[in-house]
Amino acid sequence: MPVPVESEVPPEIIDNSPDEQPAISINEDTSGFQQRYILKEVLGRGACSVVKRCVEKRTQKEFAVKIVDLTTENATEADATEVYTATKNEIAILRLLAGHPHITELHDVFESATFIFLVFELCRKGELFDHMNQVVTLSEKRTRKIMQQLLQVVDFMHKRNVVHRDLKPENILLDDQLNIKVTDFGFAAIIPEGETGGFRDLCGTPGYLAPEVLKVSMYQGQSPYGKEVDLWACGVIMYTLLAGYPPFWHRRQMMMLRLIMEGQYSFSAPEWEDVSEGPKDVIRQLLVVDPAARMTAEQALAHSFFQIGTFVLQTISPRRRMRRTMLMVRCAVRIHRQLVVKPQTKIPLSQIQRDPYRQRVIRKAIDAAAFKIYGHWVRRDEEQNRAAMFQNSVKLEMKLLVKPAL
Ligand code: ADP
Ligand code: MG
Repeated sequence: MPVPVESEVPPEIIDNSPDEQPAISINEDTSGFQQRYILKEVLGRGACSVVKRCVEKRTQKEFAVKIVDLTTENATEADATEVYTATKNEIAILRLLAGHPHITELHDVFESATFIFLVFELCRKGELFDHMNQVVTLSEKRTRKIMQQLLQVVDFMHKRNVVHRDLKPENILLDDQLNIKVTDFGFAAIIPEGETGGFRDLCGTPGYLAPEVLKVSMYQGQSPYGKEVDLWACGVIMYTLLAGYPPFWHRRQMMMLRLIMEGQYSFSAPEWEDVSEGPKDVIRQLLVVDPAARMTAEQALAHSFFQIGTFVLQTISPRRRMRRTMLMVRCAVRIHRQLVVKPQTKIPLSQIQRDPYRQRVIRKAIDAAAFKIYGHWVRRDEEQNRAAMFQNSVKLEMKLLVKPAL
């Protein structure tokens, strides 16, 4: 652990964002980072780090640099030591997992007594979290692609005995083609060979915590937890992608944690009427309270929901594939004529009055409008207010005002 040097000040900020850090001359940055890179605007922030875009001087290539603050200015010596150890652990795990197409690639590392610079490949489309705030929900097809890539990462990590422990849409980045890149291995840990887990510490983000993580930190005599926590988080993410809101939610956090421990969630909201059985079944097998009965990443990837497309490509001759394609095109044209060209069937006014949110067209319009106006309320690490955006139960005083449906 390096001893923080008082005289060293944070690195120069060359950007147009409202960042307030004082400047530092290149010579003062003892890590050598600023000799090789030019810092640009802020991309994101974490508890002890700021992530900025940067440009490599030699190649003019762009990267994202995570600048970890090791100074004791805003933290105790013990906290700074913990941050240092955690960052070193993150680097070791990223190196262990290097080469996977859906894990952010660590390009370079620089270290001084006060800062560690982790230079990553740049994910231009930002977080899946922000993408969700723009599109509100994802189609089954898009969900399949994202979840398949995420489960491939989880399978890859688990086969190397690494558990992430903080999977959530903020830690899933998107590249130009909207492929995912899992990031933030700050809570990741390696399970010793031959063991199944053995963790007891409470880490992660409330809405994504598995029941066994909560139980081991709340009650005596509970078994430690292991890799299965990542699969639970995958279930929470998949539910959120399809519905737009998380599976476990209550205004009071303690109540939400109880819902998680009891595995109480449902597909009863109108959003789920449009979702087929396949993805619901995947979620059901991921959000299983007993970690031993929960699907593994390998089992999840083998689920029929993720097999669509691969069967056709692998087993059918080019001639039959062509015939099937023509049939599919004809089918698509007919569906288009039925749904788009043909005037839309009118929804009776009485139905709209009774339950407007149950009408798909109206529901989509309400949700999209709500996110346009109030989307900025949905903050990171507070998935609670994302759920609040979808609350549509009628208030008692409104019930009294509204005339009974015709
Ligand atoms: P922390 O461990 O402090 O949460 P993260 O590694 O999660 O730090 O990074 C914080 C945020 O910075 C991310 O949520 C994301 O918005 C942004 N970010 C991180 N890495 C990249 C990257 N490679 N490309 C683009 N943005 C990134
Ligand atoms: Mg993070």
